[in-house]
Amino acid sequence: MKKEAVKVKEAEALKRAGNFEEVVLGYNEEEALTEAARCLQCKNPTCISGCPVGIDIKKFIGELTKKDYKTAYFTIREKNNFPSLL
Ligand code: SF4
Repeated sequence: MKKEAVKVKEAEALKRAGNFEEVVLGYNEEEALTEAARCLQCKNPTCISGCPVGIDIKKFIGELTKKDYKTAYFTIREKNNFPSLL
């Protein structure tokens, strides 16, 4: 069964046209966990080879699904000093 992607929230076009604030507003915890649950934890994950900075996305998502947010954060930071993660 295919799980639908969780659409990430974005600032409204008219609002963002008049400022320099973030356009992509990200997921709340529930949305992030729902999206993470879509990951198949592939044996040969193409997400890692396809990532421009080589982040271990499979590992990161696995940590998210366990709600181990601190470890997930440091997994992102292993390869990227500028993650879009607060
Ligand atoms: S994120 Fe990576 S491990 Fe998860 S389903 Fe996609 S390719 Fe597979």
